[in-house]
Amino acid sequence: MSVFTAPDFADHEQVVFASDPSSGLRAIIALHDTTRGPALGGCRMWLYPHEDDAIADALRLSRGMTYKSALAELPFGGGKAVVLGDPSRDKTDVLWEAFGRAIESLGGAYVTAEDVGTSVADLEVVRRTTTHVAGIAEGGAGDPSPATALGVFVGIKAALRHRLGVSDVNGLRVAVQGLGHVGVGLAGLLAEAGAKLIVADIDPVRVASAVREFDAQPADPANIHTQEAEVFSPCALGAVLNDVTIPDLRAPVVAGSANNQLAEARHGAALSDRGILYAPDYAINAGGIIHIAYESTRTGRAYDRQAAFAHVGRIHDTLTEIFGLADNGGIPTSVAADRLAEARLGAA
Ligand code: NAD
Repeated sequence: MSVFTAPDFADHEQVVFASDPSSGLRAIIALHDTTRGPALGGCRMWLYPHEDDAIADALRLSRGMTYKSALAELPFGGGKAVVLGDPSRDKTDVLWEAFGRAIESLGGAYVTAEDVGTSVADLEVVRRTTTHVAGIAEGGAGDPSPATALGVFVGIKAALRHRLGVSDVNGLRVAVQGLGHVGVGLAGLLAEAGAKLIVADIDPVRVASAVREFDAQPADPANIHTQEAEVFSPCALGAVLNDVTIPDLRAPVVAGSANNQLAEARHGAALSDRGILYAPDYAINAGGIIHIAYESTRTGRAYDRQAAFAHVGRIHDTLTEIFGLADNGGIPTSVAADRLAEARLGAA
């Protein structure tokens, strides 16, 4: 098992292997870059097939958080923790307390939050042994999903303006994949603004509710990406833009909340080759982390919703800048986003 020569190693500042035999804790905490501030990123709990997969996930996701925070101009670096184990079976209070002690030993260089396989309830236990926890009730500002949904909504508007020259979504068709916390919030904003919704989810109850509430047209989850619409909005899974789906896309704009939408980096170019404007995922879905930046535990002041949401609104301008850079440089928007993030990181 290698770290320094692992494909996802990108000069990470620290990679910490935390173990506590009495509680069964085995965790990896990757701090990619703390130039802009403490490395903030969620804690993922997952039954990885192999330890190497856990290391790769921590390395890749922590680097992604550096880019996301830099692009959103937040005072955070990038970090991520992975706890090796089955989230449905292996969670115990003593494990989370041991995990909290491991975070505390880093002296605030890493701040954890919720992610796949962990919940606010788990983080409340983590907080018994460390203060370096974001996105939970006390001192927190609650669920970040409405802020994420708002960021995606303004991002869709930026993309439509750039690609189709229209300034609002009224009368346009948006195909939303996934009606979870973000998807349903986004659907509400779009419906209110007069968009026509096509929706899909593997949960039929969520689909039925969107049909009722937003007058949405249901689609088969297997082919929501092939719908004739102005926008395809992936709000469920990663790797949804791949060799199989890209040739079938019919929307000129792809803009949604899902993390890691491109199966591989080269799929950014595949989208631009097809003339499809892709709003890079970590640029458009930054609303949640922006919201966290305004929590009282981060700022020392009461949560200022107006300031937080105004900052989320700037996602529109960041995307417009990315689209311009991509056009001028003849590069995919995914590459333009990386360059802008690196420039903002360099400027810090
Ligand atoms: P969620 O778990 O609440 O919702 C996901 C939804 O997708 C669920 O309704 C699920 O049934 C549905 N789904 C799963 N597989 C599907 C499929 N094959 N086809 C259609 N629907 C499917 O998650 P969320 O918090 O709404 O987040 C959605 C995405 O946005 C995730 O990729 C997440 O990582 C990303 N994201 C979320 C936030 C946030 O603030 N919640 C912030 C940044 C990024």
